[in-house]
Amino acid sequence: MRFDIITIFPKIFTSYFSETILHRAMEKKFIDVRIHDLRKYAEKNDAHKSVDGRLYGGGPGMILKIEPIAKALRALKIPNSKFQILNSRIIMLTPSGKRYTQRDAERLSKYKRVVLLCGRYEGFDARVDRLVDEKISIGDYVLAGGEIPAMILLETIARHIPGVVGHKDALKNETFSKDLDYKEYPQYTRPEVFYPSHLPSPLLGKEGKFKTPPLTKGRRGGVKKVWRVPKILLSGNHKKIEEWREKESGIRDQ
Ligand code: SAM
Repeated sequence: MRFDIITIFPKIFTSYFSETILHRAMEKKFIDVRIHDLRKYAEKNDAHKSVDGRLYGGGPGMILKIEPIAKALRALKIPNSKFQILNSRIIMLTPSGKRYTQRDAERLSKYKRVVLLCGRYEGFDARVDRLVDEKISIGDYVLAGGEIPAMILLETIARHIPGVVGHKDALKNETFSKDLDYKEYPQYTRPEVFYPSHLPSPLLGKEGKFKTPPLTKGRRGGVKKVWRVPKILLSGNHKKIEEWREKESGIRDQ
């Protein structure tokens, strides 16, 4: 699957791509991600490469112009499109768009190409709406730009592409996988026992290491509370573990 991200700040993506699961996904060619600098599509004779303009009718700030965006989309040569892409989607990132959910991530992962259009300043010339297939908001708040929303879409969509997430079952029972209220069961790793009373400094040993208090929940002197991994998870009984997980998964905290 190919992603094209159109932005005026292409460098924002550099460290993100080199550090995350997307790095491996790109190396293994599960996904192909291309970043396009919108300024490349500014007026040829404009030394400042400006892609924004003031509002007709007055008002604060600047908005992104339609021409460079139209040129950038045309340059992507998305076949059979208004730019209209058979099996592709052009998405404007905007707080006024439809709120993004896991269902959208799954849906969008079925396309061959996804184009993500990042806004800045006060957003876009309203006519840009006609160039896109849909408008998406990542939540009910306003960020300064569309680059973080683009990363969110990219990562959430990419996770549904076979091979990107290491373990094939990882997506099966995670939060939102069944419905948008569904929350995954609690998960544990080592240590089997954690002593919360280790947290305050009086329990620090002389060498700066944690002392090991008695395992018992002694009333006097000993540790009052320990946080244990539920016994069932150590039992090796996979059927029982599955039943326990089923019981412990549930409705998301609101
Ligand atoms: N004036 C715009 C409005 O009131 O809707 C807000 C513009 S915002 C400061 C600049 C850009 O950040 C937007 O064009 C969009 O690309 C991005 N952005 C900000 N919040 C977003 C959100 N919740 N979801 C998606 N994109 C967002």
